[in-house]
Amino acid sequence: ARKFFVGGNWKCNGTTEEVKKIVGTLNEAEIPSEDVVEVVVSPPFVFLSLVKNLLRSEIQVAAQNCWVRKGGAFTGEVSAEMLVNLAIPWVIIGHSERRLILNESNEFVGDKVAYALSQGIKVIACVGETLEQRESGATLEVVAAQTKAIAEKISNWDNVVLAYEPVWAIGTGKVASPAQAQEVHHELRKWFSDNVSADVAGSIRIIYGGSVNGANCKELAAQPDLDGFLVGGASLKPEFVDIIKSAT
Ligand code: 13P
Repeated sequence: ARKFFVGGNWKCNGTTEEVKKIVGTLNEAEIPSEDVVEVVVSPPFVFLSLVKNLLRSEIQVAAQNCWVRKGGAFTGEVSAEMLVNLAIPWVIIGHSERRLILNESNEFVGDKVAYALSQGIKVIACVGETLEQRESGATLEVVAAQTKAIAEKISNWDNVVLAYEPVWAIGTGKVASPAQAQEVHHELRKWFSDNVSADVAGSIRIIYGGSVNGANCKELAAQPDLDGFLVGGASLKPEFVDIIKSAT
């Protein structure tokens, strides 16, 4: 069985005080055991150590990005080696904000995923279509191409969680309906079955992101091919705890 996975992507938000407050809320919350749900929060780089040091050990920490190859003369970048040095176990790669605003291509995302995995960091890899792509009927083609670009660079998917995040649902309050999410998750799983292996298709966790909140998470969580969430805005609020609890 695939263990439920809930990630909180804090994006480019927070002050030291705000970060301490969120961590305090999470530390005091009653959450299901680690056998039931894997919980990961992803603060901005500058707060990674602080969060790692203050946060209860059952909740893991992820970076929001890392450099595509070994570190060195790459001003402004943070390397996978540095994340390893800080004992940060996870990294988010290929978020649509990086693909669309920072111009990261499918191939570049594939290279980043491969390099992070090669250094022993687990990856939350993001895919998802824009509104224009959905309206033109290209959704499955787009997410398949994004996934294929990763598959071309890696052979072991054990340490990868795939996040389906339709761009039109991110930060808009327009959550995908449970049926819309299930359809894409199902097709992605079929893509793995056809292009990678039945094993990977059965074991890979495919999580949903885009306007998930405490009120809509339960119905989404009940979809058979949906194995958790990647939460933006609501992960900065106490309702993140309700989303974690939707695992049970
Ligand atoms: P929101 O939950 O704010 O829509 O963001 C989703 C997201 O991008 C998570 O990575």
